[in-house]
Amino acid sequence: MDQPLPTTTLEAPIFDPRAFRLTPFEADLTTRAREFGARILAPRAQKWDREAAFPIDNYRDMHAEGWLGICIPRAEGGLGADFRAYCLAAAELGRHCGATALTWNMHVCSTLWTGLLTDDLQMDAATRAEHQSRRAIHYRRILEDGAIYSQPFSEGGAAAAGAAAFGTTAKRVEGGFLVNGKKIFASLSGHANQYGILCTDVTDGTASRRNTLYLAIPADAPGVSVAGEWDPLGMRGTVSRNLFFADVFVPSTASLMPDGLYFQAATRWPHMFLTLSPTYMGLAQAAFDFTIRYLRGDQPGTPPVKRRMYPTKQIAVAEMRVMLEQTKALWFQAISEAGPDPSKESMLRALAAQNTVMENANAIATKAVRSCGGQAMLKTLPLERIYRDSRCGSLMLPWTAELCIDRIGRDSLYERGETDE
Ligand SMILES: Cc1cc2nc3c(=O)[nH]c(=O)nc-3n(C[C@H](O)[C@H](O)[C@H](O)COP(=O)(O)OP(=O)(O)OC[C@H]3O[C@@H](n4cnc5c(N)ncnc54)[C@H](O)[C@@H]3O)c2cc1C
Repeated sequence: MDQPLPTTTLEAPIFDPRAFRLTPFEADLTTRAREFGARILAPRAQKWDREAAFPIDNYRDMHAEGWLGICIPRAEGGLGADFRAYCLAAAELGRHCGATALTWNMHVCSTLWTGLLTDDLQMDAATRAEHQSRRAIHYRRILEDGAIYSQPFSEGGAAAAGAAAFGTTAKRVEGGFLVNGKKIFASLSGHANQYGILCTDVTDGTASRRNTLYLAIPADAPGVSVAGEWDPLGMRGTVSRNLFFADVFVPSTASLMPDGLYFQAATRWPHMFLTLSPTYMGLAQAAFDFTIRYLRGDQPGTPPVKRRMYPTKQIAVAEMRVMLEQTKALWFQAISEAGPDPSKESMLRALAAQNTVMENANAIATKAVRSCGGQAMLKTLPLERIYRDSRCGSLMLPWTAELCIDRIGRDSLYERGETDE
């Protein structure tokens, strides 16, 4: 390394436990996440970004300190966080390293979706028993071996937006499935131990979204390969390269959800797609934190020059705080409502929250760069990384900022099934 990396002091919680009436469990979890982020993630964040390298050391530490099992039910050895508790903790990690929090989200979803979320869904007793014995295999790998799971869904077509069946296919063969296809933007590629893919069961010859399967493909299975460059604007440590599957055999135990359950989850538990937002909630807070430290002359790695006395700086900070408080309030409400079968109003609020977090994280970072000035955007300081990372949030399918706007407008004006014909 050329020079020692700056460390971060412990900031106030993003969501103060008393003000937001957090449960004791949430208060403890978020305190630990904040401390972990400042101690472990912040000092290394610059390195992953500069080298576009996967934060593997962070994952070793996350395993040692229990974070890989945050959403694994307590009865099965995990921390047992529910949806909101996870989101709150993830925001505290995103505040310190966007790429780690975003990739960790892909990993955590493989446990949240197979755990708490599927527990809310409809299946018969035998199917549930089989699902629980299968997911236990994955949970053990994570808790005991530190196995890392990823979530490559995107293919470059309409499937990841939920508008078409996935082009990656699985055909039933004796003892399991034969998988073929390609995924793009596959974060953690080359580093995850298991790729949790969505694909279409084409055994009966039809390609329908109802036949979506959620399968865990071992990274070292014959026929799996990673290709392509990864040199993006932001979120560089996610290492989101392309993944190829050529006649990859996986046993039936690779099913992360029973047949048809993913379609049911996407339809009945849509807040599952809000899980990409906590990282960006954290980045919005990080841009604000930086601005306060910098204008006060308290930012480590910079001379102790104060700029806070200028009215223009004070106005900019006020505008940033207004935007941050608006973002936090809406997002906190949306994550508090998450659950099965949300009302139309709740659904529209979730989309509004996603759009707000993704757009405002970058808007706040943009204001931070403008207000702090030239010396603040040097690569030795975290702000320019926060700025670049925050730009990526609006692009994340299925709830991109644009698609949220599409749906909010349409669904506010039309009831289900209504047309103007
Ligand atoms: C840092 C990073 C990490 C990522 N990691 C992962 C990952 O781990 N797993 C994963 O599955 N994906 C991942 N993605 C991919 C991401 O979710 C998108 O799939 C990807 O950015 C799509 O890029 P595209 O240019 O092909 O988008 P396109 O599909 O071309 O879409 C471009 C824009 O058009 C709009 N659009 C798309 N479809 C429709 C439609 N049907 N109707 C109307 N408008 C539409 C959307 O607003 C979208 O933003 C990651 C992306 C980034 C930036």
